[in-house]
This record gives sequence, structure tokens and C-alpha cells, in this order.
Amino acid sequence: MDRAIGHRARWVHPVVMPAVADGGVLVRGDVILAVGRWREIAPQADEVVDHGDVRLTPGLINAHAHLELTSHGAIPAAGGLPDWMAEVARRSRAMADDGRAGFQRAADLGAETLRQSGTAVILDSTLWGVRAESSAAVLPAYEFISYTSREDERPFWSQVVERAEADERAGRLSAVEPHTPYTVHPDLIRRARDLADRHGRLFAIHLAEIEAEAELSAAASGPLADLIAANGGDPADYGGNGRTPAQHLGDLGVLDHAVLFHGNYLDAQDLPLLLKASASVVYCPRSHRHFGHSPHPAASMLSRGVNVCLGTDGLVSNEGLDMREEMRCAVDRCPGLSPDDALMMATLCGARALGIDGEYGALARGMRAVFAEIPEALWPGDA
Ligand SMILES: [Zn+2]
Repeated sequence: MDRAIGHRARWVHPVVMPAVADGGVLVRGDVILAVGRWREIAPQADEVVDHGDVRLTPGLINAHAHLELTSHGAIPAAGGLPDWMAEVARRSRAMADDGRAGFQRAADLGAETLRQSGTAVILDSTLWGVRAESSAAVLPAYEFISYTSREDERPFWSQVVERAEADERAGRLSAVEPHTPYTVHPDLIRRARDLADRHGRLFAIHLAEIEAEAELSAAASGPLADLIAANGGDPADYGGNGRTPAQHLGDLGVLDHAVLFHGNYLDAQDLPLLLKASASVVYCPRSHRHFGHSPHPAASMLSRGVNVCLGTDGLVSNEGLDMREEMRCAVDRCPGLSPDDALMMATLCGARALGIDGEYGALARGMRAVFAEIPEALWPGDA
């Protein structure tokens, strides 16, 4: 039988109960046996691992990343998101000349960087169907773009179907991800939801990341209507009935337990809809700052019971891959958000969004023994 290891730290943050000063976690194999004061844990431990002067927390959950873009370099946001997306696509095409190998290397590097800074699980959007190799758990979110529902214009859709089916056969977690409500035709968003439901996959989508989405869904006009038309789609299919982007997805019947990336411009009137659907919102603080968005509604959503998680987004709109920095940035930029709130968002809320909160997201008996160490200098709110 495995020996019992006692992990000691100046602070232990179980998340599901208040932080314990001079705390301990007793572990056998990769399962937690007990959490408490060190003086209670110590007598039961066969061996001791002293983490020292840090805050020991559950392994962090990064609920939104684009690991395959790790080597693209940061792309300035000055031209707005559609221009920025065009530049991402240009750099991706250059990388694709090499096949998928460049994306795989980038994803492996990104996953490893996150793991080294305490991330245990990553929901990773991938257009190229890459599953990063890392001892952090990586759940691919199979992303696709399709401005029309025509059979001959569905880049990536058939691969998404194959990948979802293959993961189900292999018993691996993954998600189906229509990119956004303005880059995927509503018929295919519905079909993606059906696919996810049929194969036990998560359903994820970028939502209300930019302000222009509101004009598209309300009035089928504005810059995103132009983008759709330029790509062969009909903007009238995407809105025009006075709905918000979240209501548009609600009308499509796809919100149930959905993982919604960003939600920067979610409206107060959307919250009952999100609560009823048990949908999760993933706030990406440093990416949000990169694009200079209006203040994020994370604190008010959290206080009203919405499951709000944290994510890094891709390195194309961020300066690093470290969830501890996202926690700090969230607290700095959201009045009313405490360090404990940020930790909960980066752990338990993320685990709930991914349906893995029976194993991850808290330090408690029976949970997986995966930790993050947060030095005092990186703890949010200290700056
Ligand atoms: Zn994204």
C-alpha cells in the first residue's frame, strides 16, 4: 500500500472551507485522505513534503485557452477583434504549411507552461484537432467556423464529428465548440449541440466577447453583419429580432450547461437565462485587458449565482500563460472581487463548468491530490 504523504504549507486553501494557517493535506496515491491543521495531519503522515511559505491550493482549472496558438506571438488589438482574428488566421496558415506539427508543438509548450505554474486541467479550443501532451489534463474543445449551413462550406465540421465520436469511444473528455454566434450559422450551432449531447461532450462557444455582437443579434446589422456577408453568409439568419446574443443562443436551445467564453458584454437581463440553464461564463482577465474592453461583469454575475470561471485565452492576446496572474488581474480590475473569489473561480467554478468537480477544484477527502503553490508575491490583492 502507498505510504501516506503529509503536505505542509503556511496556508492551505481547501476552497470549500476557510483557509487553514499552518495547514496540512494527507495524501495516499493520488487521493486526498484528510485536510486540516498541520498538527492534526502530521501524526498520520509516513513522509512529509514541506511546501514552505506558500499558499497551497487545488490544482487550477484554466477554462479557456488556445494552446495551438502559443507560438504565434502576441498580436496587437488596435484594429479590433475581426482584424485581430484575420491576423491570427494569417499566422495559422503560415504554420499550417508545415502540417499539424507546428500546432502540436505549440500546444505541448503551452500546456507544459501552464502545468508548471499550477494548472491541473485545461479546456483548450482547437481548430486543428490538437490534444496537447502534458501531465496536466487537457480537454480539447473542437472548434469550427462556418458562415453558411451549405454542405460544401463547412470547413472543419466533419472533423469535429469524427473527433467527438473518437473521444467518446476512447472515454476521453472533450467539447464541441462552434466558434461564436457570428462565425457559425445558427443551424450548425444547433447541430453542434446535438452532436455534443449525443456523444456526451461538453458544449462551448465564445459569447458576447465584443460589443458588436449585440447589434448583430438585435438588428442583423453592423460590422459583424458585413463580416458574415463577406464570407458568403446571410446576416438575416443571425439576428434581427431584437434579442441579445445570449437570448439568441437561448432561442436555439443550446445554453444548457454551456461553457461560454468571455461574456464581456453580457447584459443584466441575460443573467436569469444563464442561471436557469446552469451555464458557465469564463472571464479571461488579461485577454480582456489586452483588447481594452469595458469593465467585466464577473463580480455582479458571481454575486447573483452565475458560475464564473477564469481562463488565460491564447497567448495571441495575453502576455503569459499563468492562471495565478489571471487571478491577480481579476482582483485588480473587478471591484468587489476578493482573492478568495478569484481562487474559487480558478478552481471550483472551473471544475463545475467542466463537470469534473467530483475530482478537481477543492482540497477535500476523496478528491485528487493535485496542488498549485501560490507564493505570497503572486497572491491576488497584494500589489
Ligand atoms: Zn478564445
